Amino acid sequence: MLDTDFFRRWMTAAAASVEREANHLTELDSAIGDADHGSNLQRGFAAVTEVLEKDAPATPGAVLTLAGRRLISTVGGASGPLYGTLLRRTGKALGDDDEVTRTQFAQAFAAGVAAVGQLGGAQAGDKTMLDALLPAAEALAVSFDGAVDAARAGAEATVPMQARKGRASYLGERSIGHQDPGATSAALLVEALAAAAT
Ligand code: ADP
Ligand code: MG
Ligand code: MG
Repeated sequence: MLDTDFFRRWMTAAAASVEREANHLTELDSAIGDADHGSNLQRGFAAVTEVLEKDAPATPGAVLTLAGRRLISTVGGASGPLYGTLLRRTGKALGDDDEVTRTQFAQAFAAGVAAVGQLGGAQAGDKTMLDALLPAAEALAVSFDGAVDAARAGAEATVPMQARKGRASYLGERSIGHQDPGATSAALLVEALAAAAT
């Protein structure tokens, strides 16, 4: 079973990983965006860990909805509302149980990923975070480790894609040949999930 502490650990591990990889994420965003993805997420996840310590939400659903709200309110870029929606919608789908199974979580996460698609209007193959999140959500129904592999492969698969959503789409064909920053951070988020599970 996954308890409230598991979801706190997930957010803490995600914050640490974003902190560690911030320069890399910003480098990727400097190639096909505006060079702020690392700093956007650094600011957002630092605020998430801070509010989780302060408010100590009591259920898995409450941890994720609070984290999502905080991301939306602290990150100005596209990734703030998108990741914020992912966590809020996932948290909402978890309801107010004290503990959830991985299967329940996988279903909730899939609903969160679908909400990201709805908000941003992107689909698989558009070279966005969804190219890592969609395969991860599917693999999560089987295992955490499988979700990590799927997310990493999904992020790498964005390299030859031409961006059709977000800032990178303004570059047209020049967006080809670069890994999408958001798909890369999405893989970090899934890695943090697996780390919290061990
Ligand atoms: P901004 O582009 O506003 O500077 P960030 O640099 O923080 O925001 O985030 C950029 C990432 O957001 C992209 O690499 C992409 O993965 C993701 N993204 C942008 N637009 C969309 C969208 N419409 N749907 C899904 N993901 C998107
Ligand atoms: Mg950017
Ligand atoms: Mg920006």
